[in-house]
Amino acid sequence: MKNTIIEFENVTYEYEKLDNIIQEKALNNLNIEVNQGEFLVILGRNGSGKSTLAKHINALLLPSSGNVTVDGIDTKDLNRIWDIRSKTGMVFQNPDNQIIATIVEEDVAFGPENLGVPSEQIRINVDEALKMVDMYEYRKHEPHLLSGGQKQRVAIAGTLAMKPNCIVFDESTAMLDPAGRKEVIKIIKKLNSENNITAILITHYMEEAIEADRIIVLEEGNVIKEGTPRQIFEDVNTMKEIGLDVPEVTELAHELNKNGINISKNILTVDELVDELCRLK
Ligand code: ADP
Ligand code: MG
Repeated sequence: MKNTIIEFENVTYEYEKLDNIIQEKALNNLNIEVNQGEFLVILGRNGSGKSTLAKHINALLLPSSGNVTVDGIDTKDLNRIWDIRSKTGMVFQNPDNQIIATIVEEDVAFGPENLGVPSEQIRINVDEALKMVDMYEYRKHEPHLLSGGQKQRVAIAGTLAMKPNCIVFDESTAMLDPAGRKEVIKIIKKLNSENNITAILITHYMEEAIEADRIIVLEEGNVIKEGTPRQIFEDVNTMKEIGLDVPEVTELAHELNKNGINISKNILTVDELVDELCRLK
């Protein structure tokens, strides 16, 4: 059965005006529902409103008008703010800004300590969380000596220790090298498929988006496209027009088509492209 974990109802957000400069709305009357267990990817150019949207999910920002609810709780309900923040973790772009403690396991314990979880339970949560991101053996290490991918996995463990239903990854792979990016994406997919944690991934890497259940494309604070990865990337021209890419193989298939090679344009992976090319006589 469908179970909505996050709901945006007519959400508009305007940042405070500086020196009377007229500002565009960062979010413009958005209506979005996210289901428990969904893997949702949000795409959009710089400045399209992705981070503003993300910050509404755990009440770092509150709507100028409209409502955001998390598991039925209105984010404006200040008495429930820690409920909301434990249900929806956030992992940001720069791993160095997220790690506070000097020992990995102390860092991961920080969230549940803030929530007032009893210390025996914190111990259990921290160990479980570190195992889920494959960082348990590093629990006594100093975070600043870890690689970028490892630091992000510690940051993910920090949210997992609060037992969230949902984690928002705001360009969490953007500062990583390709190996680190792969590690982090693998963990995100595992948490989503094995632990039923709702994953909301904001990314500029189209290859990371192809396994999403659904993609939302933002432009100037509006949802301008929504659909499965196939539906979104099929339309190479529109994506290019709004300044976004499509996966490399999708683009290659599109170019081959333009040059008279009759294969499906609806291709997302190398395997699919190989299959299509092998069908040609
Ligand atoms: P994205 O994450 O997609 O790059 P943002 O949500 O950060 O986009 O920004 C959306 C819009 O809001 C942009 O026009 C940006 O300039 C503006 N904005 C973002 N943060 C602030 C802020 N703290 N003060 C004023 N305007 C902001
Ligand atoms: Mg952003």
